Amino acid sequence: MYDFFRSVFIVFFSSPCGGPPNKPQGTYSFPDSQLCPICGRFAPSDQAPCCYCLDKDYHFQSNKVLLQFSVEVEKLLKDFKFRKHKQSTEILCNELINYLTTTCDRPFSICIVPSNPHSIAKKGFDHSRVISKYLENKTNFKIFSPFIRKKGKAQKELNLKQRQENLRNQIYLAEQIKILPPKDERIFVVDDIFTTGSSLDHCSRLLTQLGYKEIYSITFTAKISGTL
Ligand SMILES: [Zn+2]
Repeated sequence: MYDFFRSVFIVFFSSPCGGPPNKPQGTYSFPDSQLCPICGRFAPSDQAPCCYCLDKDYHFQSNKVLLQFSVEVEKLLKDFKFRKHKQSTEILCNELINYLTTTCDRPFSICIVPSNPHSIAKKGFDHSRVISKYLENKTNFKIFSPFIRKKGKAQKELNLKQRQENLRNQIYLAEQIKILPPKDERIFVVDDIFTTGSSLDHCSRLLTQLGYKEIYSITFTAKISGTL
């Protein structure tokens, strides 16, 4: 607990000139050469892509992992995702804002993988909506919501094949989409965590059906397998 509050203290009080906060304590930074160019996870060998991505053909070009997985990052994500912890939300969303503002030099739009309605009912809040509202309040990023998600099994209970099938039945394009960015714009699909990449791939595939060609994904963190 002490370490967590120390991380929060460092994040909020060590950034010079009110700029973007430093990464929280307990997070690992690796040079790009040690990251898989597709999923963004740490890939210590000189193999590229990593063994998990070798047979994958995702509909997004690459995934950016904002914070490599660690005990501290797992706690941060759980506090955000299951407890709507304010400071965890700020730390994670500020990482996202920092990444987009420092690396993207031309117009882009964001869409967020919608939460499972079953999990929203269980927790009493929608963590995807929390991200969206935070970005709306703090930035002028363009956010659009082309997806509908109906109730269904949680992804974490399923294997890869079952996840893909589950998502096909669960997430689909809305019949009427209020805002659609220009087709030549870069689209970032945002999700909390990358494990198999199924949710991000499914949403990216739906975006290609809308005519988008430059689709990237961003996740707060990434795991090889298992659940949060
Ligand atoms: Zn990979």
